Amino acid sequence: MKILHGIGVSRGVAIAPAVVLGKRAFRVPARFVNVKAVDSAIERLETAVDAVCAEIAESERMAAKQLGEKYSTIFHAHQQMLRDPKLLEEMKQLIREKCYAPEYAASQVFRRYIKVFQNLGTAYLAERAMDLEDLERRLVRQLLGKQRLDLSHFTQDVVVLANDLTPGETADLDRQHVKGFATEAGGPTSHTAILAGALEIPAVVGIGPFLNDVQAGETVIVDGTQGVVIVAPDEPTLERYRMRSRQLAMLRQRRRQLRTRPAVTRDGVRIRLKANIEFPDEIDHCLEHGAEGVGLFRTEFLYLRDEQEPTEEEHFEAYRRVVEAFGDKPVTIRTLDLGADKVSQRIRERERPPANPALGLRSLRLSLKYLDLFKTQLRAILRVARLGNVQVMFPLVTTVQEFRQARLVLNEVAEDLSHDGIDHDRKIPIGMMVEVPAAAIMAERFAREAGFFSIGTNDLIQYTLAADRGDKEVAHLYRAGEPAVMRLLRMTTAAARKHGIPVAVCGQMASQLPFVPVLIGMGVRELSVPPQVIPELKDLIGKLDTRECANLSKAIARFESGNTVEQHLVRVVRSCMENDLEEA
Ligand code: PEP
Ligand code: MG
Repeated sequence: MKILHGIGVSRGVAIAPAVVLGKRAFRVPARFVNVKAVDSAIERLETAVDAVCAEIAESERMAAKQLGEKYSTIFHAHQQMLRDPKLLEEMKQLIREKCYAPEYAASQVFRRYIKVFQNLGTAYLAERAMDLEDLERRLVRQLLGKQRLDLSHFTQDVVVLANDLTPGETADLDRQHVKGFATEAGGPTSHTAILAGALEIPAVVGIGPFLNDVQAGETVIVDGTQGVVIVAPDEPTLERYRMRSRQLAMLRQRRRQLRTRPAVTRDGVRIRLKANIEFPDEIDHCLEHGAEGVGLFRTEFLYLRDEQEPTEEEHFEAYRRVVEAFGDKPVTIRTLDLGADKVSQRIRERERPPANPALGLRSLRLSLKYLDLFKTQLRAILRVARLGNVQVMFPLVTTVQEFRQARLVLNEVAEDLSHDGIDHDRKIPIGMMVEVPAAAIMAERFAREAGFFSIGTNDLIQYTLAADRGDKEVAHLYRAGEPAVMRLLRMTTAAARKHGIPVAVCGQMASQLPFVPVLIGMGVRELSVPPQVIPELKDLIGKLDTRECANLSKAIARFESGNTVEQHLVRVVRSCMENDLEEA
């Protein structure tokens, strides 16, 4: 029996015989064409690019159908990358000037970019190299007339073991028979990991070299919750995991039944559980999991597809779909939280990339500078408010003046709509995200003006601890349980309580079970989370007592390190969850 450790990127347990894909080094040997055949070689390259784009479009269509638009945009981006004129021109140049065969030229150009991405120093960009590798494999295969690796048809249950799976290969996995997968390479934020989570296939990545030690057909356990892979397990281990797998299935079944029931604590306090969404086509996913509204509608997706800025009608149409689907349940639309990297061509031409993007012209700051862009969105929000229960909130609010300015713009927009005789509703709650330490420190002042608070813990933690939320090198400093973070949460919730305004948490902390009791103890009565987390939150909330939670919040206020806070919170939740422990 061999026990291997990696990064669990999709929870659950899979037990099945292994299919080993081995390393598929795509080193294309140096091949050349006759100088007279250069034109036809270039034509061959262009035809292959068209064919690959058609193939990726098919992956996009399949992903959109099975998983939703959020995931299919990965493939939309792949097509755009492959159509990049600079990339194509570089390949053509190698064919034209050095008489490289098209597959050799393609491979050389891709290899160079892959290396650049891998060496850029951030884990995020290194993982984007995998997207380029996906394109390289597809294009070279097309040029060499080879079949794509077909992972979409198996006749029996398997666990797939590979050096790495590209996003395209992952999206293609046969969902009926591929029970889990494990890879030597890969990281937690790769597109492969994201797709594995969406497919709900237990997966472990980043294990390091291990394929040479596994035989095809050997029994393998993939434990995506713990990030462990066990090859050729002994009988007691196998039995233990079989039992866990059965328990998990029962747990999921029980939680599914909670779907339509409200989340109520043992002492009868109602907690509202809403969904965080990024795309209108996530509506069904929300309703299936029993969301009581949308607590955070991120609207940046409108900028994902085109260089063009979305029109008022495009904003309106996207919001309308969500607002109508939720009927009288509240939908909180967050105004654009764009960064300098994710903006339209117009803004990119006018703004220099900020030296420090997290502290630069982004989010509400950008909206307040580009008022036409902000007003377009606000018009759509006020118009759509007529059709349901809409709230608006501003991201990254730092000063009271900024909040007032944003509210003023909203009032101006309402005046314009009235003047033009356009239907709208201006009496919607206007809230703000508390995600900058300055806002938490001044929460008492903000609470007199804002209609509600929604705490964005993802940014609040990064700004409080000066630790980039996506940087692996400082991941040990990015700790939700740090006493400084806990104190800012207490200040914010106390201010909301004092002024009688609702306070929600929409950052990731709301979906981390150990933090739920302490948030409730601070007075939070609304959590907004990825929809799939709602059933387990309901399960946990049903086991809590708000008075005990309040005591817990007081107790941890005395702790001095993030580590002790987190360990204590984990212990508390484990004692509540008993047998359901492993999901906690
Ligand atoms: C947050 O910062 O916690 C948040 C919810 O916003 P985002 O993750 O979109 O920055
Ligand atoms: Mg944020």
